[in-house]
Amino acid sequence: MADLAGAFDLIVVATGAGYRLGLGRFVLGLLETGWGKSPLARRLFRSARLKNWFYYRARRSVLPKLGKLDANRITIIGDAAAPGKTREAVESAFKAALFGLR
Ligand SMILES: Cc1cc2nc3c(=O)[nH]c(=O)nc-3n(C[C@H](O)[C@H](O)[C@H](O)COP(=O)(O)OP(=O)(O)OC[C@H]3O[C@@H](n4cnc5c(N)ncnc54)[C@H](O)[C@@H]3O)c2cc1C
Repeated sequence: MADLAGAFDLIVVATGAGYRLGLGRFVLGLLETGWGKSPLARRLFRSARLKNWFYYRARRSVLPKLGKLDANRITIIGDAAAPGKTREAVESAFKAALFGLR
């Protein structure tokens, strides 16, 4: 990241989020097996609490080291800013592009 400092006026970071405690491979592996469509998963994911845990709490931002970059020249968007749903990630990207919001 520090290498970019001289080359650009504004740096937008959209590196997304990863599962805490290294659970990513496990969760993605489960989804790839189709477990998410099983009767048990369907029943479990009727719970808004569980769904929200997956979207908002189970993951955390994956931010690369920003070093000594000037904070005024960096905009962090999407799940890198706050893990959530696609809609929120897209909305924050639009806001950053149209209004320059962080
Ligand atoms: C299992 C799961 C299910 C989901 N289901 C839904 C759903 O049903 N509905 C819904 O609305 N949302 C869902 N989401 C949320 C949705 O996927 C995210 O909110 C959305 O993808 C966030 O977009 P983003 O651009 O912030 O990050 P990402 O889509 O994660 O993109 C980040 C990009 O940055 C790249 N990157 C990462 N680190 C670096 C680095 N250091 N340098 C360069 N590039 C890097 C990555 O490779 C990736 O291409 C789900 C998420 C997960 C994990």
